[in-house]
Amino acid sequence: MDAPKIALAERVLQIKPSPTLAVNAKAKALKAAGADILNFSVGEPDFDTPPHVCAAGKKAIDDGFTRYTAVPGIPELREAICQRFADDKGWSYEPDQVQVCCGGKHGLYNMAQALFGPGDEVLIPTPYWVSYPPIVQLAGATPVEIPLSEDNDFDLTEELISKYVTARTKAIILNSPSNPTGAVFSAAALEIVGKMAIKNGWVIISDDIYDTIVYGDEKLPHILDVDPRLKEQTLILNGVSKSFAMTGWRMGYTLGPKHIIAAMNKIQSQSTSNPTSISQKAALAAVSGPQDFPTMMRDAFVPRLDFIMKALLEIPNVTCVRPKGAFYVFPNLSAYFGREFNGKIIGNSVELADYLLDEALMATVPGAAFGDDKFVRFSFASSMATIEEGMKRLAEALGRLS
Ligand SMILES: *Cc1c(COP(=O)(O)O)cnc(C)c1O
Repeated sequence: MDAPKIALAERVLQIKPSPTLAVNAKAKALKAAGADILNFSVGEPDFDTPPHVCAAGKKAIDDGFTRYTAVPGIPELREAICQRFADDKGWSYEPDQVQVCCGGKHGLYNMAQALFGPGDEVLIPTPYWVSYPPIVQLAGATPVEIPLSEDNDFDLTEELISKYVTARTKAIILNSPSNPTGAVFSAAALEIVGKMAIKNGWVIISDDIYDTIVYGDEKLPHILDVDPRLKEQTLILNGVSKSFAMTGWRMGYTLGPKHIIAAMNKIQSQSTSNPTSISQKAALAAVSGPQDFPTMMRDAFVPRLDFIMKALLEIPNVTCVRPKGAFYVFPNLSAYFGREFNGKIIGNSVELADYLLDEALMATVPGAAFGDDKFVRFSFASSMATIEEGMKRLAEALGRLS
């Protein structure tokens, strides 16, 4: 007789595994089986971690820097982060207002655990990064989606936000530049968010992980530049995953009010303890060393962005807002829904992404994963040759639908 199946906790039943990682896994499996898969689903730079950062990690091992560290991260790293923010942004933070954690995603998790609970609502402009709703749900709170429109360049407006505000609204999550749209919130939109946040006492979570990958010459508008009072209710999320191509090192950090950081440190002390000692030394080299690597990477993305935008807009019935940052394009492919291939109707973004994987051998991420089914996300953090071949395959595959 089979043993009785152990029941799982309620909290895990309401969330799904990260769909971007799932697509990536399926593409990798097909590739391992010999298929010539072009991977547009990856959410990380295609560059290697810079050598001076790797060297710092190796040195940490050789020096025996392999034991527990302070829970919120080594003081010299937190000091270096404060210095970087002071130099680059003119914002003043003290080391006890900084928590270093195991990747940006973990920082969000710590914030949610420290701040949210049952009854709290968290505003999430949509399309959103896949992990925001489940992280809010795992804290027992309710994610509230604010649907953004491509017609308005995925920007926020007062009218739009007002529709979703209730007495239970506790926070809003901003991600600018955005994954998946590449959009940037306008200064006017941030002004409105800032005013509403001050009036209602909301927490603002500003996920700035792509702030070094910005196209054009305009300064990236930021919520902290709206009103100095907002510093007391804002949590800045950042890290080295995207800026220094260090996704595997798992190094993120949060800056914010001291009492919130202290609460997050309590959570971290009872869950992961300190982030990896070796990775902290590598992150220290990244944050305190020369800053030309992020700029080099941004510059390398520009011709790829130009090419992929042009190619997408040449495909009939495709619309796409030009990204102002990050390394994703998010075209609206919904004009192709309802069409068919071999007698099978493509009804939504998941079926379209599946069709592209099977018939065009290209891995993408369906918009449904980001809360908007009209779109499909393509990462252009891959070689120009891959992008050129991929756009050819995309145009042909969409053209075969009737
Ligand atoms: C990649 C990413 C992060 C952080 O990822 P980590 O690998 O956990 O550092 C945070 N927010 C967004 C929107 C991202 O795309």
